[in-house]
Amino acid sequence: MASTGTIFVVSAPSGAGKTSLVQAVRRRLPGLGFSVSYTTRLPRPGEVHGEHYYFVDKTTFAELMAHGEFIEQAQVFGEYYGTSRSQVQAMLDAGKDVILEIDWQGARMARQAMPGCLSVFILPPSRLALQHRLRGRGSEDESAIAKRLADARQEISHYNEYDYLIVNDDMQEALDLFEAVIQAGRQRMAVQRIRQASLIQALLADEVIEHGTDYR
Ligand code: 5GP
Repeated sequence: MASTGTIFVVSAPSGAGKTSLVQAVRRRLPGLGFSVSYTTRLPRPGEVHGEHYYFVDKTTFAELMAHGEFIEQAQVFGEYYGTSRSQVQAMLDAGKDVILEIDWQGARMARQAMPGCLSVFILPPSRLALQHRLRGRGSEDESAIAKRLADARQEISHYNEYDYLIVNDDMQEALDLFEAVIQAGRQRMAVQRIRQASLIQALLADEVIEHGTDYR
C-alpha cells in the first residue's frame, strides 16, 4: 500500500478499555479513520451493522476471504473476524491514518502485510480490574466471562510483539499516551520525507536571498 498514511494496530484483552480509548482518541485527533471489521458473530444489543462491525454469515465471510478482501483475518472466540482491504485503502487514499482494533493473530498478519504499521498493546492495571470491567459490561453470562478471562491471558501473553505498551489505569492518562504515540508516529521520517518534500526541497535549494514578511 503506497501511501503516507499510517496504520495503527491496537490490541488488548477484552475489558482493558481498548474501544473507549480508540473512540476517545478519534474525537481528539482529526484525520484518524477507523476500520470497521467484518465478523461472523451476532450483534450485541446496541451494535449497528456498518458502524461497529459488518455482521455477515460464514458463507459470505468465506467468499470475501476467497476474493482477497481481507488484509488479515482470524478466528477469535470461535467466530471469524477480518479487516477490509478496500475500506482501509480508501481511507489511506483519502489521506487518513487508520486504526485497526484487532487481536494478536490479526496484528501478526497486519505487520507482515504492512511492515510500516505501528502496533500498540493496551493492558489493564490489574487482573482484578480486568475481571471487574468484564463483569461491568453486563452483556454476557458467567461462563462467557470465565472463558473471556482465560482468553484475556492468552491475548496478554503476546504483549511483547507490539511496538508500544500502554497501561490503562487512569483513562485520561492512557488517552494522553495513546495520543502521543499517534502524534509521534505521524512525525516519522518515512512519512515526513514524503509529506514535507516540497518544504525540504525549498530549504535545500541553492542560496537565494528572500525578501518578505510572511515567515510561515
Ligand atoms: P468482540 O467480539 O468483543 O467485538 O471482539 C473480539 C476480539 O476480536 C477483540 O480482541 C477484537 O479486537 C478482535 N477483532 C475485532 N475485529 C477484528 C478483525 O478484523 N480482525 C482480528 N484479527 N480481530 C478482530
